[in-house]
Amino acid sequence: MPIYEYSCRACEHAFELLIRGETTPACPACDSEDLERLLSLPRVHSEGRKARSLNAAKKRDAAQGSERVRTQREYELNHDDH
Ligand SMILES: [Zn+2]
Repeated sequence: MPIYEYSCRACEHAFELLIRGETTPACPACDSEDLERLLSLPRVHSEGRKARSLNAAKKRDAAQGSERVRTQREYELNHDDH
């Protein structure tokens, strides 16, 4: 079940709501339904961290790959008997 973070446009109260089915979210402070859904959820933040560490791992693998290619080329240069 998704938890959304809302900011109330009427009173600027910020809160999190668990949305069940067709429930229309309403501000717990002033009961207004004029809400803005925010994207600053902890779950979203942790997914962002995961994506960043995945990118770091890809960069590391790419660096190791080019290192392997260079080592192979040096080996061939040093062992060119022709
Ligand atoms: Zn409100």
